[in-house]
Amino acid sequence: MSTNSELLERRNNAVPRGVASATAVFAARAENAELWDVEGKRYIDFAGGIAVLNTGHRHPRVMKAIEAQLERFTHPCFQVTPYEPYIALAEKLNRLAPSKGPNKTIFLTTGAEAIENAVKIARNATKRPAVISFVGGFHGRTLMTMALTGKVDPYKRGFGPFPGEVYHVPYPNKFHDVSAEDSLRALEFLFKADVEPGRVAAMVIEPVQGEGGFYIAPFDFLRELRKLCDQHGILLIVDEIQCGFGRTGKMFAIEHAGVAPDLITMAKSLAGGMPLSAVTGRAAVMDAVDPGGLGGTYAGNPVACAGALAVLEVFEEENLLERSTKIGERIMRRMNELAATNRFPCIGEVRGLGGMVAIELVEDRTTKKPAAALTKRLAEKSLKNGLILLTCGVYGNVARFLVPLTASDKIVEEGLTLLERSLEEAMAG
Ligand code: PMP
Repeated sequence: MSTNSELLERRNNAVPRGVASATAVFAARAENAELWDVEGKRYIDFAGGIAVLNTGHRHPRVMKAIEAQLERFTHPCFQVTPYEPYIALAEKLNRLAPSKGPNKTIFLTTGAEAIENAVKIARNATKRPAVISFVGGFHGRTLMTMALTGKVDPYKRGFGPFPGEVYHVPYPNKFHDVSAEDSLRALEFLFKADVEPGRVAAMVIEPVQGEGGFYIAPFDFLRELRKLCDQHGILLIVDEIQCGFGRTGKMFAIEHAGVAPDLITMAKSLAGGMPLSAVTGRAAVMDAVDPGGLGGTYAGNPVACAGALAVLEVFEEENLLERSTKIGERIMRRMNELAATNRFPCIGEVRGLGGMVAIELVEDRTTKKPAAALTKRLAEKSLKNGLILLTCGVYGNVARFLVPLTASDKIVEEGLTLLERSLEEAMAG
């Protein structure tokens, strides 16, 4: 088998630079929260394939369901000869989704596609063009989702023009002094200056921002958004692609706020590693589009649907929602302990909702100046020490923990010990 450096050279020759990889470690095999590279080195995986593996790498139950489906068929195409796994999964999500049902669900393949379709459905249902999204939000790499994304570098630079009728307002961010009131005032100004609410089809928001930095929208703010939407006939779309599927200790992060969205987008941990995304929402809205207006050749692939059905069983059998809360508490406790010592003045904030936890690194706790270079060094040192750790944040100064919820306490602790050592090394330069 090739070495990491041989594969890196081949990769660089064969694959464009635009597809960045967080590491130059090439995967050979993986199991639950561990991964081994082509040179046999073991890593603890706190990245989970970017929030895809809440049920871990190759969960035996998910593997079995996928194998069983492989024996039956892999692609009759739902738009030609439909199949039960798609319907069974839709039924389950319709029951689980906190929208004011009855609900219906469409399956797609990627997160961006789910957002694209949610916007298509919202426009069709409201007969309105405009969409509001939030600064720091990430919604994908297609043209519409780039337009919705609230971060220029590296996602939007040089890719315009973007589709019109997309408006951004600040996302509440206590750490960086943006209050919920500031965001609500910005919406008020937007309605005065740029677009009348009667022309807005939808607002798209992540209840907890993922790529943006694991910032948690205040629950009151989400309830205010719901009220505003109701007042103006605007649909509320929650993007649960990163914060959903149990990551925050509830199946959907929006449940913490007790808000019923009109549409929910899901992907990532929905199918335990299989490419699958979904839009679930009120049937009256979902059914607005005429036959043929929605879909995609591979959308709702049966093998992926079988995987997702197994993921839901694993959630129940292994109490993963409770586990998410416990894992989150454990990580928060350890990180808060580190922050409380005088060894780590760089930890500006430890924040989390359930198992969706991050630390934000700063050069100075008073000025809160983002420590992006230190955060990058932390990820590099972590990798050397055997921990795969992802950064995020509008300023690139947040380290996020996306450990599988199926990981044992021992593995989580081992990962956190590696993190502590790596942070020490990163601070030393
Ligand atoms: N929305 C959110 C909140 C995400 O985190 C992501 C992916 N990081 C997407 C949308 C886009 O998903 P995909 O990469 O599968 O298109």
